[in-house]
Amino acid sequence: MIHPSSPEISNEHEALIQFLYLAPVGLVQVALDGTIGMINPISAQLLMPLSRDGNLNNLFTALESVAPALRYLCADFSPAQGVICDAMYIHLNAGIQDKYASKVFSLSIIKLDESRLMAVLSDVTQHLRCERELKQTDAWLNTIHTRMTDYAMVTLDQLGRVEAWNESIGRVTGFDSEALLGQPYSIFYPSKPDRREHLLNQLREADENGWSLDEGIRQRADGTEFWGSAMISPLRNRDQPPDVGGYSELRDPAYCLIIRDISDQREASERQRKAAYSDYLTGLANRRAFFEAAELELERSKQSTRPTAMIMFDADHFKAVNDCFGHPSGDAVLRHLAAALSATFRDVDVVARVGGEEFAVLLPSTDLADAAELANRLRTLVEAASVMVNGESIRYTVSAGVAAMDDRLGRLDNLMQRADQALYAAKARGRNRVDCWTPDCPTYKDHLKGGTNAA
Ligand code: GH3
Ligand code: MG
Ligand code: MG
Repeated sequence: MIHPSSPEISNEHEALIQFLYLAPVGLVQVALDGTIGMINPISAQLLMPLSRDGNLNNLFTALESVAPALRYLCADFSPAQGVICDAMYIHLNAGIQDKYASKVFSLSIIKLDESRLMAVLSDVTQHLRCERELKQTDAWLNTIHTRMTDYAMVTLDQLGRVEAWNESIGRVTGFDSEALLGQPYSIFYPSKPDRREHLLNQLREADENGWSLDEGIRQRADGTEFWGSAMISPLRNRDQPPDVGGYSELRDPAYCLIIRDISDQREASERQRKAAYSDYLTGLANRRAFFEAAELELERSKQSTRPTAMIMFDADHFKAVNDCFGHPSGDAVLRHLAAALSATFRDVDVVARVGGEEFAVLLPSTDLADAAELANRLRTLVEAASVMVNGESIRYTVSAGVAAMDDRLGRLDNLMQRADQALYAAKARGRNRVDCWTPDCPTYKDHLKGGTNAA
């Protein structure tokens, strides 16, 4: 048996922790007394509004006002490892009537070993969920490989002026304390005419949502620029907004600002984003990208009276292509088909590989007849071409199904289903052809039941 403290196990453990640290949820590694050892960006974002003094040193202290029993719950947990609490809901409205009143966090705590706990935190507040998901995806992609040492933290007053700082700011921005105190936090930004307005908007957004995240060019003390993210969270116990004349009150900490230099990750996160949305074999959009882009396009088209059409393409007898020429040659044929699709359709059309040898195209401002004509153009292009792979010439064909959006159809999946049915009809009627959806198109279910005019 391998001892739990053996190098293999502890390396594995470290790898697991590193992996968790990159996860799109809040993670905090703490000592048994709650002292924070490692905290990921999302946790900092969730916990900072709870911090009374703008510091995040101890998880139990940070959560004291909303989950006072946590410290004891962890202290009483005697096993060496295990789940201390699982998805515990923490309501942030305990006795405080303000804009955080409706917030709810979910907290799980796992005891990793005799000295460490891992807390997993997420905001489960219903009304912010959609907005958060979108922003968190971006935040997550951009914070991959970031460690706590890449952070700089300052607290700001009501007007966004630096109220207190810690040494980390020097490391990231090169400013020292004297140059910073009382300065608007725009000092970290290259000067632009609308900068002040932009920064005040960020404070307002933080007030409304509990946080605000902004990525772009930042400026160091020596004027050099870097690509950074700035996250602002309002501090929970700050004073009521002061009257305008009360300068000393203005200097009370109101927000926490965290700046990270993510220049290194900018390229990597772009690559990640691209990898998540494009098909590795053909370079076209993938299924995920297709659904996201198509949903967006359909939303847009609903606001106007533009027609929208969809074409589903499927390579004919593709299994036979693989069987005759081998899988790598099949891949080359798929790349050929992808190139033909890219050449045939417009930039505004959403062209994607949605299955192995299946491709979908969404055509904004295009009616059924025009879409059918384009589908047929692609079909004849493919029929006439031959793909040269390793000195061998491969011929292939495609079938297509075309459908158009109508008022009653409403949703993308319904439109796709119709295009699929039309494609199925094209297959059933002999392949290498284009069919448009009609109400009597056989469904795949019909085929399975053995009815219809399937070939
Ligand atoms: P049909 O005309 O009815 O569409 O016949 P088909 O053979 O094209 O359809 P079927 O669904 O039976 O087979 C699809 C084939 O596509 C089988 C699978 O191996 C092949 N395929 C799927 N993805 C890839 C890929 O990435 N590369 C290659 N080379 N082949 C693939
Ligand atoms: Mg298929
Ligand atoms: Mg096929």
